[in-house]
Amino acid sequence: MKTEYDIVIVGGGMVGAAIACALGGSRYQVTLIEGHYPDAFETGQPHDLRVSALSVASETLLRNIGAWDGITSRRSCPYRRMKVWEANESAATLFDSEEIGEAHLGHIVENRVTQLALLETVKQHNNIDLICPAKTKRVDYSSGSSIVELEDGREIVGRLLIGADGGESKVRQAAGIGITKWDYNQQALVASVVTSYPQQDITWQQFTPTGPLAFLPLSGNHASLVWYNTPDEIKRLMAMSDHVFLEAVHQEFPSCLGKIDQLLDRSYFPLRRQHAQSYVAEGVALAGDSAHMIHPLAGQGVNIGFMDVAMLAEVLLDAQEQGDRFYSKETLAKYEKARRHQNLLMMQTMDAFYHVFSNDNLPLKLLRNLGLGVANKLPFAKPHITRFAMGLEGPVPSLARRT
Ligand SMILES: Cc1cc2nc3c(=O)[nH]c(=O)nc-3n(C[C@H](O)[C@H](O)[C@H](O)COP(=O)(O)OP(=O)(O)OC[C@H]3O[C@@H](n4cnc5c(N)ncnc54)[C@H](O)[C@@H]3O)c2cc1C
Repeated sequence: MKTEYDIVIVGGGMVGAAIACALGGSRYQVTLIEGHYPDAFETGQPHDLRVSALSVASETLLRNIGAWDGITSRRSCPYRRMKVWEANESAATLFDSEEIGEAHLGHIVENRVTQLALLETVKQHNNIDLICPAKTKRVDYSSGSSIVELEDGREIVGRLLIGADGGESKVRQAAGIGITKWDYNQQALVASVVTSYPQQDITWQQFTPTGPLAFLPLSGNHASLVWYNTPDEIKRLMAMSDHVFLEAVHQEFPSCLGKIDQLLDRSYFPLRRQHAQSYVAEGVALAGDSAHMIHPLAGQGVNIGFMDVAMLAEVLLDAQEQGDRFYSKETLAKYEKARRHQNLLMMQTMDAFYHVFSNDNLPLKLLRNLGLGVANKLPFAKPHITRFAMGLEGPVPSLARRT
């Protein structure tokens, strides 16, 4: 059985579901195909390991597409301050939302909560069919109209195929779009913990030669710790019993962490940098991790994915308004032009952080301290960095702009 749509989105993670919401209410007939429906949220459930720091620009997009209330009504944690410093150095740089007249710098939200709020919004739109859970068996890309075959034999046909299916994107592969990639010599161990402090409003990161140690506040006295280190060291930390691991946390993390009362869960993630050689071709567009994967040390991966969403939706809605061929390479190139360069800049900035901070080389050490010192002392530099972290610096697509 074949069902035809204008737009077929493969992957209903945070990015794919957000694209569907942004196209909700338009004249496009859209389908969103997702392999796994996230588990229902219940108050009092333990926090998930996968959390993201969502910028103010992402919050604005999520508000504008009707999903933000579904996040805050479930669970989220605003943070107002962000502190960074280097181990064994006294100078720390503090970014405070009050200094620029903002209520907060961002929110830490469990990825599942964001995805649930988005999928709930998707279901409210008559022009969008959610096919979930449904595994994609085959993607047959054609510049005229592509076919997605599901494991149950159904065939979904679309003029425009959007790949939001993550780093291993089948859509990207089917369209023959190549990637450049390398693995960082670093992995991220994420631990969900209960702290002895009440709810906090600060996220902090201490740089060490082997990688940063980061703290992200969650609701109540819960928090997420991220320990970046070499794959061998992460393997050693993962093999420890909970008790020994907590001792290592207390020893290695800075004293401002305080006492950890309980370790709830931990896991680790390999870190890869990956960039699609093109984001678009005739009849196909890539967004989010299917187009780019970056080092998570500044928490920007899904934030730049959400800016892809805002820009792609803007281009598609504009094409409908103007009566342009929405699936043509010419139309889609406007999206690529606006996003690829911005994402590359963000990747290069993260790479610079990774290389400059992850070593003991003396000139780089001086450079780092100079950099952090400059950020602290120059009154005009800090607000720019703060606004950059909030996603408000540089070109912001209109769907993510505050009115
Ligand atoms: C340790 C760590 C910490 C991070 N912290 C942050 C942070 O603080 N802030 C931030 O902005 N980013 C952060 N990131 C990055 C962020 O997690 C990713 O950028 C984000 O999850 C990408 O979302 P996505 O929807 O593009 O892709 P994915 O999350 O990979 O979603 C892809 C979706 O497609 C579905 N899918 C895949 N293939 C198919 C198929 N064939 N058929 C049907 N469905 C399919 C999957 O089920 C999935 O739901 C972090 C990453 C890591 C590893």
